[in-house]
Amino acid sequence: MSTILIVEDEKSIVDLISFNLKREGYDILAAYDGGKGLELALSGRADLVLLDVMLPVMDGFEVLRRIRQSSSVPVIMVTAREEEQDKILGLETGADDYITKPFSIKEMAARIKANIRRTAGTQKPQGGDTYGPFRLDKGLQSITKNGRALELTQREYDILCYFLERPAQVVSREELMEKVWGYDYYGDLRAVDVAMRRLREKLEDDPAEPRYLMTKRGAGYYLQV
Ligand code: CA
Repeated sequence: MSTILIVEDEKSIVDLISFNLKREGYDILAAYDGGKGLELALSGRADLVLLDVMLPVMDGFEVLRRIRQSSSVPVIMVTAREEEQDKILGLETGADDYITKPFSIKEMAARIKANIRRTAGTQKPQGGDTYGPFRLDKGLQSITKNGRALELTQREYDILCYFLERPAQVVSREELMEKVWGYDYYGDLRAVDVAMRRLREKLEDDPAEPRYLMTKRGAGYYLQV
């Protein structure tokens, strides 16, 4: 299931879009100003962003510009202004598509579907090594999932790196503590469990039912890709 982030300050419009997209099977995130919108867009939780141009705190173009500094999440600009210039500016700043208000929900749903499909099919190749949906670029110290950068702390990056380099191999908590934290196993092993839980929240679609970072009862953890 895909998650759509709606960045729009008119609550009635958010409610209308949200209601209709939920019926189409999407999960919805909403932000009512540009600052919050940017924060959510960069959280990695959205598969596509519907971005209004006229917004409080930060306008849509500025939000888009900042999103593109670190993320390739598909963005559809929603503009009330008809001027061609706006559309062109939006596309040059890195928008994937645009919709002019007033729009039909049907048109919007079709554009969303097309843009999600397109970006899913044409991930640009980057540097680094691929492991299932993950790509590890040690030069950039970055790990992406399905082309989107995961926002990891240094420790989370180190842990995931350790697993990516040992696919399907069970790693005990003691080993992780020793290799990643660097202490011997007199350290508190619960720190490992806490870190693994946080990591799952960042990379699993459903942290309660992990598909990648698996637990091997009584033995440790392993990565399934
Ligand atoms: Ca607006």
